[in-house]
Amino acid sequence: MKILDTPELITTLIAPPKRLLQFATLPLLLVLLPLAGLTYAQPQVADMVLMGGNIYTVDASQPTAEAIAISKRRILAVGSNQLIRKFVGDETKVIDLEGQFAMPGFIEGHAHFVGLGEAMMMLNLHQADTWGDIVLQVEEAAKTTPPGEWIVGRGWHQSKWDSPPTPNINGYPTAKQIDEVSPNNPVLLTHASGHMNFANGYAMRLAGVDEGTQNPAGGEILKDASGKPIGVFRETAQGLITRKFSAAQSKQTDEAKAVYLRRAVDLASQECLKKGITSFQDAGSSLETVDLLRDFATRGKLGVRLWVMIRDSNARLEGRLSRYKMIGYANEFLTVRALKRSIDGALGAHGAWLLAPYDDMPNSSGLNTARIESVTKTAELGIKNDFQVCVHAIGDKANQEVLNIYEKLFTANPTGIPRRWRIEHAQHLHPDDIARFGKLGVIASMQAVHCTSDAIFVPKRLGMRRSQEGAYVWKSLIDSGAIVTNGTDAPVEDVNPLNSFFASVTRQLKPGITFFPKQAMTREQAIRSYTIDCAYAAFEETSKGSLVPGKLADIVVLSNDLLKCEDSEIQNTKVLMTIVDGKIAYRNPDAK
Ligand SMILES: [Zn+2]
Repeated sequence: MKILDTPELITTLIAPPKRLLQFATLPLLLVLLPLAGLTYAQPQVADMVLMGGNIYTVDASQPTAEAIAISKRRILAVGSNQLIRKFVGDETKVIDLEGQFAMPGFIEGHAHFVGLGEAMMMLNLHQADTWGDIVLQVEEAAKTTPPGEWIVGRGWHQSKWDSPPTPNINGYPTAKQIDEVSPNNPVLLTHASGHMNFANGYAMRLAGVDEGTQNPAGGEILKDASGKPIGVFRETAQGLITRKFSAAQSKQTDEAKAVYLRRAVDLASQECLKKGITSFQDAGSSLETVDLLRDFATRGKLGVRLWVMIRDSNARLEGRLSRYKMIGYANEFLTVRALKRSIDGALGAHGAWLLAPYDDMPNSSGLNTARIESVTKTAELGIKNDFQVCVHAIGDKANQEVLNIYEKLFTANPTGIPRRWRIEHAQHLHPDDIARFGKLGVIASMQAVHCTSDAIFVPKRLGMRRSQEGAYVWKSLIDSGAIVTNGTDAPVEDVNPLNSFFASVTRQLKPGITFFPKQAMTREQAIRSYTIDCAYAAFEETSKGSLVPGKLADIVVLSNDLLKCEDSEIQNTKVLMTIVDGKIAYRNPDAK
């Protein structure tokens, strides 16, 4: 128990444990030092205390507690009701948790912050059961969109429809039906994976795409038997359409653009807080977006803490990185110390780069979307500027190549401590590569919910043996010493951590159907993957990820005990309260 009112504990605090010393601020030490000579020191008064809870701290030295005292932005003490009561003064806000479960706020380990907000402002196609549902959504939108303006949506997935579209090419929709309902508007509908998009005829005409258009490097324009583009663009070919869309957006006034982005950031913040997320690891923002986020942070307008990977060209990064490095900026609401690249695509779109061809597309082993030399160059910039490097790799070949790049650079630039570079997704691994994560200290930054969403097509794409040996092998990775983090890749998936938590511990697609359940995490491992392990993967484990004195007071209160509730209850869990920086940032209106 960490409390400041007995002489021997005061002595302990004068020589604080290393962990505490690292984040003990000068004011905290000044409070502690005069206590040394006193026999009966008065404990500090808390601004807020949570009492009567079922608290899981994610700290091995004191895993459970009843109460927490918070002073300013940090945790002052954690322990029994009796002990924490000593921190209550006249001004202290006292919250009775009435036995509810509390734990460190969720840290979303890989998602797209501005993209999450933007997705909330466009057509949401995730719930569509058929392509026909999507046609109806576009038809509705066309009624209120002025001619010539873009209609945008996100979240379609051909593998999740009850029946294939008519007409279709290899299961993919064609522009025909959408053209009929939106003849006067360009339409851009992004695939759930983000690795494919759909354009109608109007948008393709704007982009100058026709029978003669060649596939760009690392991409593919899907065409019918006559050679006519059907409207589906894979990987880098998406740029043909998105560049036209961005060009139209950039013609907006600066004021209109700023209003749009401000709304996206606000919507993303609110959505995270509602779902118990207190920190968010943003998987790739341009330098301009980082400028915008810094502005938000400066004005205290970020609802959650962000740790951002910069995704920009090597040419633009070179010479600019030192100016963009921020660690714990604006009361620890913004950290920028990582670079993002992608080396392949996604499995659903046959874009994951494999060592051997797809089982259901024997002429293809996927797509290598960025040259090895270019990714290596980014990694060298990471070494030079002391940035972490995070590379998206889904297929086994992609993962192997990234591990090779990392290993070569680590050997050439030894530090003695892990650089905590990451592989984003690490979804499908060759068995020989699994142990390399732990050995090299490379973080496997995974999104458990992808496993259960994709499970329906993984064996089709990879076959049973490859699926069993290497797909979403959380347990093998953890057992071999790797840090596995968790998240949702929102807006690819809903940002709700409970979905990924459920997938982590059950690997259940539907009741009674599981995907190689031996690779499931334990409840404790799944909580770690969403808290302290995510913190570690961002060099933030001394300030967040567990509930111990001195750390930031970022806490979530839930309606179920995530360690003990039935599997079937996990996704019914309600977020009752989200506390960020020692303040209540969200309170469930349905909770009393
Ligand atoms: Zn992503």
